[in-house]
Amino acid sequence: SEKIQSRIESNDKFFSLEFFPPRTKGGAVNLLARFDRMREGGPLFCDVTWHPAGNPGGDTETSSLTIAGAALNYCGLETMLHMTCCSMTKTEITKHLKRAKDIGIRNILALRGDPPHGAEDWVPPEDGFNYASDLVRHIRKEFGDYFVICVAAYPMGHPEATSYEDDIKYLKEKVDAGANFIITQLFFKAQTFIKFVRDCKAVGINCPIIPGIMPIQSYDSLRHIVKLSKLDVPQDIMDFVAPLKDNDEAIRNYGIHQTCMLIKELFDAEMAPGVHFYTLNREVATTAILKQLGLWAAAPRRPLPWKMAANHKRSGEDV
Ligand code: FAD
Repeated sequence: SEKIQSRIESNDKFFSLEFFPPRTKGGAVNLLARFDRMREGGPLFCDVTWHPAGNPGGDTETSSLTIAGAALNYCGLETMLHMTCCSMTKTEITKHLKRAKDIGIRNILALRGDPPHGAEDWVPPEDGFNYASDLVRHIRKEFGDYFVICVAAYPMGHPEATSYEDDIKYLKEKVDAGANFIITQLFFKAQTFIKFVRDCKAVGINCPIIPGIMPIQSYDSLRHIVKLSKLDVPQDIMDFVAPLKDNDEAIRNYGIHQTCMLIKELFDAEMAPGVHFYTLNREVATTAILKQLGLWAAAPRRPLPWKMAANHKRSGEDV
């Protein structure tokens, strides 16, 4: 299949969708049905987050692999698997990457991850990695060019970074280590992203930088996400959302409007090749935004895997 990299680098605007692995069987059934519906919109890829075992509320690594494999091989979605490195040994990481390769995954979002909650004196495994750049180097060393590699970036600086400038310097290190493109942490104002892209270009980061966008869907989820990501919500957004906190529908409509304006501003400034959505495993707001922007069903869809197999069979090819 055509590597997603060439589509990212083409002039067509695209979108991608992030999901987390569900915690229950019922959740998995719902998510697979959601993949089917979202597939109709023609996402460039869907990605599945990675949660090291042992994180409270987290999941085991294997469920990320299972869900990513289902998205790819049953739902016909181009899929990117996230992988964090800071709490695994090199051997474990290689084992998971091999499994990802075996199930046909071609795209990895290489991350450091965070130490387990409440483990202030935590040290990474001896035979492990400290930074995402180490993981990128490891993937290139072990798997050559098989995987398209994405890395994360922080338009407002990573919360632990020694400075905004240092953080961009380390981002360049990840790209130089072999990353193909970048997805950013969520942000609220177009100017934040525009400035960041300019600052990246100024130090020679030339790969595509895709803005990570989170439509505000409810007061509680907004508070939860900004706490997790250690972000500040701009006052004008908080002033609008806080009085509506018990009215989910009003907040969702505001989120749809605010996100459409944000994306239009990024596209008008010609700063974003496409957009990446933090869906939080929901679809109503994201679908509405994509339809309003004319992005829904604008991109070619991948054929379903079993239809491809049937076509091959009919034409007498080995499958
Ligand atoms: P790195 O790029 O390694 O950077 C981490 C910190 O170290 C930064 O402050 C950086 O400035 C600093 N640094 C980097 N290199 C060096 C160096 N050589 N010397 C000194 N300092 C250095 N977490 C999950 O657990 N699962 C997920 O699925 C997940 N998906 C994510 C997806 C996206 C798009 C984003 C933006 C984040 C995601 N995260 C996920 C969160 C991420 O794991 C955390 O933000 C983590 O703290 C940093 O990961 P990183 O890959 O950006 O780290």
